[in-house]
Amino acid sequence: MSHNRTSRSHTILYLDGISVSFDGFRAVNNLSFTVDKGEMRAIIGPNGAGKTTMMDIVTGKTRPDEGEVFFDGDIDLTRHDEAEIAMMGIGRKFQKPTVFESHTVEDNLLLSLKGPRSILPALFHRRSAAEAKRIDDILGMIRLADRRDALAASLSHGQKQWLEIGMLLAQDPKLLLVDEPVAGMTDAETEETARLLKDIAESHSVVVVEHDMHFVRELGVKVTCLHEGSVLSEGTLDFVSADERVIEVYLGR
Ligand code: ADP
Ligand code: MG
Repeated sequence: MSHNRTSRSHTILYLDGISVSFDGFRAVNNLSFTVDKGEMRAIIGPNGAGKTTMMDIVTGKTRPDEGEVFFDGDIDLTRHDEAEIAMMGIGRKFQKPTVFESHTVEDNLLLSLKGPRSILPALFHRRSAAEAKRIDDILGMIRLADRRDALAASLSHGQKQWLEIGMLLAQDPKLLLVDEPVAGMTDAETEETARLLKDIAESHSVVVVEHDMHFVRELGVKVTCLHEGSVLSEGTLDFVSADERVIEVYLGR
């Protein structure tokens, strides 16, 4: 598969021919797919398909042995380390929530806000007002406006996941990578999470890995199914779910 420069300009994520091996085992094998700027994409596939490893490659945690990884058009991610990639605007949510349990919801968000704060005393109040507005917006987005003063420890598992998504939003990323967000959530939380991610996707590009097919259907976005480190099928959920190869290796089991 080869793309020209023009086709890359409208992509937030461009993977071409990515491979990575661990002790001779090809966890990702000639993987190619692209995500458009502003798009939300769902990634599905059986355990061990390489979904998390793909995210490790995008975030610079793992270096690919081969292939090209471009972000936001022409930024070659293979030339940057994990910290630089995070600074450039890729936020990642791991499966397990890692909020500061002994801080309030609001303080968790404040601690995550991008950029140095209170640089100059004269700017302090202006900044604070801007920050307060930003925190209010994020609290609304993550459905925790009425829990702002609660300790993070007191939140349900699902609410902790939302808080962590809020902490990512506070960094103002261009692309959010979300790995299995609804694992362990109640049905109501799962449905709310689909709405929440759709709200976020109005102003961000999002890549979400998830096994819960009901949730993926709620998202209503293009789906990429991975298997043995490459793309097995891609298209609407209806198209991918009807693909014999997907049924064989994933859905039919
Ligand atoms: P998924 O997220 O789709 O379930 P992963 O990306 O976690 O799959 O794993 C893909 C394959 O690569 C699995 O067989 C896994 O055991 C292997 N793998 C992932 N990371 C490492 C690592 N750091 N060292 C060795 N093997 C790994
Ligand atoms: Mg995984």
